[in-house]
Amino acid sequence: MIIDAHVHLSLYDGNANSLADSKTVLLDEMRRRGIDRAIVIPDSQEARYDIAGFETARTLIDDADPLDLLGSPDILDGRVQDFDRYEILLADRTIHGLKFFPGHEPYYPTDSRCLPYYEIGQRQRLPVVFHTGENPENRDAARFNDPKYIAEVTERFPALSVVITHYFWPRIEYCYEVTKDVPNIDFELAGTADGAVVRASGGIGAMRDVLGRMIQDHPSQVMLGTDWPMCNIQGHLDLVDSLGLNQPTATGCWVETRRPFSNCRYDITNP
Ligand SMILES: [Zn+2]
Repeated sequence: MIIDAHVHLSLYDGNANSLADSKTVLLDEMRRRGIDRAIVIPDSQEARYDIAGFETARTLIDDADPLDLLGSPDILDGRVQDFDRYEILLADRTIHGLKFFPGHEPYYPTDSRCLPYYEIGQRQRLPVVFHTGENPENRDAARFNDPKYIAEVTERFPALSVVITHYFWPRIEYCYEVTKDVPNIDFELAGTADGAVVRASGGIGAMRDVLGRMIQDHPSQVMLGTDWPMCNIQGHLDLVDSLGLNQPTATGCWVETRRPFSNCRYDITNP
């Protein structure tokens, strides 16, 4: 089973006419690329026309769809105290983890407003996912999501499953150095095959090299993600295939990374 652990229901580059339509396009694309299930990440803001927030995504996704949802707490709006609500959504597996957007939004992973959510994730044994790296329109954004802060979170919450997405591009070697000895960080590959990301990060050779080492170090802690529709699914499948890890190794790494269901700690086997 191949699971894409990072997609959005959103309008991008004329892919769809509506958010409902974008779900249809996504399901088509998954069928075409051999993706069995996908995890939809809602935006932290509701009521945007171009990307589904949690409530919109929940109404668009049917039980029969091979799609599962994360939650995306709004950290900046001090009026929103959503801890109880998210605890229930996680407990009944309406959502399968929480996504945080430091850098997209001006807060650090160590921000005190985030900590109660990490406690909930730890208690419910479900992961928290951190956006990392630059934003094309705001390079300064990366100072908020430096993996050194994410490593601090893992020290403070040792039983919490923590996931880094986008590998802190373009500083991928730095991300490797900062995280290589941290036991409880998982990695999800969304964006790492995107042309602009690859170019800014030193080229495809540099990307393959660092991801190859990271997968060797953490063979059961890496999962496929694509960031569809901003990035294309096939490019990410090709990148992973090109790592030359698709034969089981002594540690069984590649088979496992292609099957995040079995090991990625997103408990979506019992929705
Ligand atoms: Zn994304």
